[in-house]
Amino acid sequence: MNTIITRFPPSPTGYLHVGGARTALFNWLYARHMKGKFVLRIEDTDAARSTQASVDAIFEALEWLGIDWDEGPFFQSRRTPVYQEHIEKLMRASHAYYCTCSPERLESMRAKAMAVGEKPKYDGTCRGKDLPKSENAVVRFKAPLTGTTLLEDVIKGNIVFQNDELDDFIIARSDGSPTYNFVVVVDDITMQINTIIRGDDHVLNTPKQILLYQALDAPLPVFGHVPMVLGKDRSRLSKRHGATSVTAYRDMGFLPQAVVNYLVRLGWSYGDQEFFTTDDLIEKFSLKNIGRAAGIFDQEKLTALNADHIQATPPETLARLLVPFLQKKGIHAEPGEFLVKIVKTLAQRSKTLEEMALSAIFYFAETITYEEKAARKFLKPAARQPLQFLMNALSAIETFTEENLENAFKSVMEKTGLKLGKIAQPVRVALTGKTASPGIFEITEIIGKEKVIQRLKQAVDYIEQAKEKE
Ligand code: GLU
Repeated sequence: MNTIITRFPPSPTGYLHVGGARTALFNWLYARHMKGKFVLRIEDTDAARSTQASVDAIFEALEWLGIDWDEGPFFQSRRTPVYQEHIEKLMRASHAYYCTCSPERLESMRAKAMAVGEKPKYDGTCRGKDLPKSENAVVRFKAPLTGTTLLEDVIKGNIVFQNDELDDFIIARSDGSPTYNFVVVVDDITMQINTIIRGDDHVLNTPKQILLYQALDAPLPVFGHVPMVLGKDRSRLSKRHGATSVTAYRDMGFLPQAVVNYLVRLGWSYGDQEFFTTDDLIEKFSLKNIGRAAGIFDQEKLTALNADHIQATPPETLARLLVPFLQKKGIHAEPGEFLVKIVKTLAQRSKTLEEMALSAIFYFAETITYEEKAARKFLKPAARQPLQFLMNALSAIETFTEENLENAFKSVMEKTGLKLGKIAQPVRVALTGKTASPGIFEITEIIGKEKVIQRLKQAVDYIEQAKEKE
């Protein structure tokens, strides 16, 4: 079998959105699964709307997702001679012709068709004239007037188009610049792309493209048109539904594997399996399991899947990924042993890296700010003595280990006659400012002797001051 060659050809007119990323993933996974090639092409012929910033943003998003390419990036804006050569080829084979119809004539033709509710169509005035090249001439493709064009879509099934619905569309404008459908086909032919998976917003372009392949004597690729990604209200996914750019999810603290997993599952399935590593996807991906129904993008589901991926990621990796999120909160941490320990206490409790960073702040704080409710409920006069006893017991310990921390708490239980829970809650508020945190021994050990004692003292002082105010 021939090597499978797929492609992703984004137009650099904005960031990479989740729908585009899913298309890229399908093509990339298929190429990787089939041990084929994946080509990246930047469709930047629309000079007015294409920007370098968008090109950079697309590269950045692909890299973050872990999508690499074997060939390219090719830029359409640098391939003019290739397109020119193919226009000449079509001309020579009488599959194209020059047309000098004025814009006014075309406009009145269009208006007439619209007035009687018909699809505007070029009437073929210049089709048989064999006009020479001239200043204002465009190049039109000589499309068949009768018959049908068949799209054998691997996702949607067969779709038959009536050729009389199509017209002699323009393939080069009067300034010589080639048009969209033409350059896509020339690129896909010359880059030897044999499998094209793309959004079904391109279905109506496909019959024109198939006719161009035939006119250029090139074998047809396999086409598959994927249904769009929709929002929860089933309208096309847009900013109204929340973030749509891939890198916005990176910045919110999602892991690339989770985003990859979620986007691929949004339109492809493998039994009931929901959780996939990227290697798993490469192993299992197939075109036949791409669904025909639109995928509904649901950020809550993505968040739940992200939590699963966080738990499946080694703490050392999470520590490294957490650093920039801590940085944004003014915490400069190294991804070393200390941070790894912190991550181990938070991985089970965090749905995103952002949430993890928020939960990690107390480990680094100089002084603790108490949540009002937490202080009111637990830093009461009755807590002063156990906190003081614990401070004394901990001061006597050389190095904190789980065992001697347990003994210290036990001694406080014995002295006060209180259960561990009664002691642990005020201690937790003293150490973290909150009523919920990882295990009390774990956090005590990680925060370390000096800071723990300082925080217990801060809590004792707080209780005394509150008492004085009464
Ligand atoms: N450049 C087109 C887009 O961004 C893709 C065209 C194609 O896949 O054929 O929608």
